[in-house]
Amino acid sequence: MLPDDCHAAYAPKEWGGGQYEKDLLLIHAPRNHISVASPTAPHVVIVGAGFGGLRAAHALARERVRVTLIDRKNHHTFQPLLYQVATAGLSPGEIATPVRWILRRAYNIEVLLGEVQDFDLERKIVKLEDLDVAYDYLIVAAGARHAYFGHPEWEPFAPGLKTVEDAIEIRRRVLLAFELAERQAANGGPQMPLRFVIIGGGPTGVELAGTLAEIARRVLADEFHSIDPRQTRIVLIEGGPRVLPSYPEDLSRSAEEQLRQLGVEVHTSAMVTGIEPAAVCMGKTRLPAAIILWAAGVAASPLGKKLSARLDRAGRVMVNQDLSIPDHPEVFVIGDLASLKDEKGNLLPGVAPVAMQQGSAAAANIARDLQGKARSNFKYVDKGSLATIGRAAAVAQFGKVYISGLVAWLSWLFIHILFLIGFRNRLLVMIQWAWSYFTFQRGARLITGDPTLSSWMALHTVQQEVKQSDNEDDLGTGAVSAAARFERQ
Ligand SMILES: Cc1cc2nc3c(=O)[nH]c(=O)nc-3n(C[C@H](O)[C@H](O)[C@H](O)COP(=O)(O)OP(=O)(O)OC[C@H]3O[C@@H](n4cnc5c(N)ncnc54)[C@H](O)[C@@H]3O)c2cc1C
Repeated sequence: MLPDDCHAAYAPKEWGGGQYEKDLLLIHAPRNHISVASPTAPHVVIVGAGFGGLRAAHALARERVRVTLIDRKNHHTFQPLLYQVATAGLSPGEIATPVRWILRRAYNIEVLLGEVQDFDLERKIVKLEDLDVAYDYLIVAAGARHAYFGHPEWEPFAPGLKTVEDAIEIRRRVLLAFELAERQAANGGPQMPLRFVIIGGGPTGVELAGTLAEIARRVLADEFHSIDPRQTRIVLIEGGPRVLPSYPEDLSRSAEEQLRQLGVEVHTSAMVTGIEPAAVCMGKTRLPAAIILWAAGVAASPLGKKLSARLDRAGRVMVNQDLSIPDHPEVFVIGDLASLKDEKGNLLPGVAPVAMQQGSAAAANIARDLQGKARSNFKYVDKGSLATIGRAAAVAQFGKVYISGLVAWLSWLFIHILFLIGFRNRLLVMIQWAWSYFTFQRGARLITGDPTLSSWMALHTVQQEVKQSDNEDDLGTGAVSAAARFERQ
């Protein structure tokens, strides 16, 4: 049996509950205008402090409920700017904000750091490793992660970009590749141009490819003495017929053109069939690469499976129109973890505005329940899409209006600064971008962690093999080099 008072129920098992209960009473002490719920007010547990969970928490801060927000990270990450950290344009602290700080004035909200492992939907309990948290309402907003189409073994060779840790690792690999190439050339070794391959031509792949091309051609161009970073080859591989497939065809074409102008080699309708330590395989084609980045697929958080509801092919939970799950009206799933179609039958995209609007909608439905009113169905209001490609290069769609180039890029800049959390971050990012724009510098070029690049040794072996097969071609053996064939496509 659960105790009536939820506080005791979610006290850590090993603490016994007493002191913890006292702390919670302090949290609920009246300090400003935001709702201060009584200890017996309905308890809402939110899992995930991303765009969806945080928006739900903000909405519930004004309701007569007690809220517990649980996240395995202590910070909210502004994912749209992760690529800027990965490419040394911004520092992690400029795009990630402590959740506790964001909600410091919401006295009815307790923030807990911890990884949710499971749910007991019958007993209404969220299970962490060492803690059970009872709820009256549950909002699950655990997001998604990159997926490797059933090939998890590719991940170490081709990291994806989802967390601050991922961004720092990508930055490390990219900067290290230039350093190792310089050291090798300075030592009289071979001067093979570096090749970076980005797999996936969606918004993240396009951003990464465009920015890496700028780094090689402009930022690092004059800083190395033994190599010429301008010779770096940036290859973007997309399985479908065009980049930015979720955008109108005109904008896809414009994005591809802008990428080419930046010096990116774009290959569409090219399916990756294997990834090795320093090579990408497409059928018989084997392309050596110093750095391989993955921006091709996402799968919903594994927490979706624990909710005993139907999942779609990407593991997203198929929710009702009011965002609850079948048979459990007290459980809501939102954001990247939820699968819901609009009135035209199109699946809602995995983007921040959908997650935020769903966060507000789930909170509003809880408030309606408590007021004895009928729930509302969720309706997504699409205000447009933007994708950046590089300096003064972007595409944007606002309803039937399509724009590209400088104006789209300025809109992208403005919107991303507007939605960043915290005045300090907005100011810092604005200064950084203005600085980078006029000086072509990127201020966060730090290599931290492991000073070795595991793909580096493998790269030499792959390059030797490709060279050998080129020689065999020259000798007329008929065995066309796989890499050369790819390059002619
Ligand atoms: C690189 C990148 C660029 C993007 N660019 C854009 C863009 O330009 N525009 C746009 O609209 N969208 C963009 N997106 C998509 C957008 O970020 C997502 O749609 C949005 O973050 C989804 O919000 P969410 O709340 O569902 O999940 P998230 O924001 O991912 O939040 C999920 C939260 O749940 C937590 N969590 C997960 N599992 C657990 C667990 N077991 N226990 C506790 N906590 C857990 C995570 O730590 C995280 O804080 C981008 C995404 C990426 C990765």
